[in-house]
Amino acid sequence: MSTNWIERDQQAIMSTYGRLPIVINRGEGNYVYDEENKKYLDLFTGLAVNILGHSHPTVLKALQEQAGRFMHISNYFYNKPAITLAENLIELSIEGKVFFTNSGAEATEAALKLIHKWSKKQNFERNGVVVLKRSFHGRTLGALKLTRQQGVYQDFPVTSMPVYEVEPNDCEALSNVFETERPAAVIVEPVLGSGGIVTLTAEYLQHIEQLCKKHQALCCMDEIQTGVGRTGTFFAYVHARITPDVILFAKGMGGGLPLGGVIVADPHTDLLQPGDHGTTFAPAPLSSALGNAVIEVLIDQGQMEKGKKVADELHDQLQSLKDRNDESLMTFVGKE
Ligand SMILES: *Cc1c(COP(=O)(O)O)cnc(C)c1O
Repeated sequence: MSTNWIERDQQAIMSTYGRLPIVINRGEGNYVYDEENKKYLDLFTGLAVNILGHSHPTVLKALQEQAGRFMHISNYFYNKPAITLAENLIELSIEGKVFFTNSGAEATEAALKLIHKWSKKQNFERNGVVVLKRSFHGRTLGALKLTRQQGVYQDFPVTSMPVYEVEPNDCEALSNVFETERPAAVIVEPVLGSGGIVTLTAEYLQHIEQLCKKHQALCCMDEIQTGVGRTGTFFAYVHARITPDVILFAKGMGGGLPLGGVIVADPHTDLLQPGDHGTTFAPAPLSSALGNAVIEVLIDQGQMEKGKKVADELHDQLQSLKDRNDESLMTFVGKE
């Protein structure tokens, strides 16, 4: 067999991803190493997944312990890691219940089904979802309807649920939608991720909450990328002191294993009934055990606080570099 892994990849794996010409051999802490053992500082962190770096000892310990017991059990049985994780998530967010999935797009699908049921409960007098321009909520055919990025959705058929698109941070535009239409939900990323890192203001998030409350629409926060401590609070909406009805999570939650889901606020937890939704692997005991380990490190071991301090410092330093607008710095960055 050839040792040219890049060529073998191109032969065997469909080319749906842009790639960097690096074959990773192992990771440790903040670093990854290629085949020649060249060391790279991993600022990529997977796709916002490896929030604790690589091979964190607490995560590894949880992995070994749970793998030694059982890795999979069907959702016909109760499993302790998932129950504990759901309890942890509720304690860290809103009073309600959790539905687990295996990915972010699946969390969006679950939210969409929930929104549909919410519309149905009101005889479709409220229908459809308000989304932000340039939003990203996943690539499955349902979630794709909510993902407002040209190259991503344009070639595919999507659900018939109406979608109303508004400019981020424009309170008036949002009010106008509620005046002219009757949406059943609003879904936003508190910081638009792949849409260009646009931070929603506290004022805007509070405006969403108020309008949703007034019109009985579900206020949904897609925290798939912003959640799990990445903005210094466990979920980013907390900065705006609002209480959403639905919170989507995934990416960093499974400590490197696939794990997603939705947290649904109390009055709405009965919208999905037995048989309405499900998936083979969820709630996955192994990823749930890792999820609990991630929470232990972030909260109990104080890593979220520490991370916030480093992030603030890094932000200030980068901002001052940007303000200097120094050409020679760009050359330096290019060389390194
Ligand atoms: C990544 C992402 C998703 C989709 O998650 P997948 O696990 O890739 O399906 C949805 N919403 C946001 C905000 C994301 O960043």
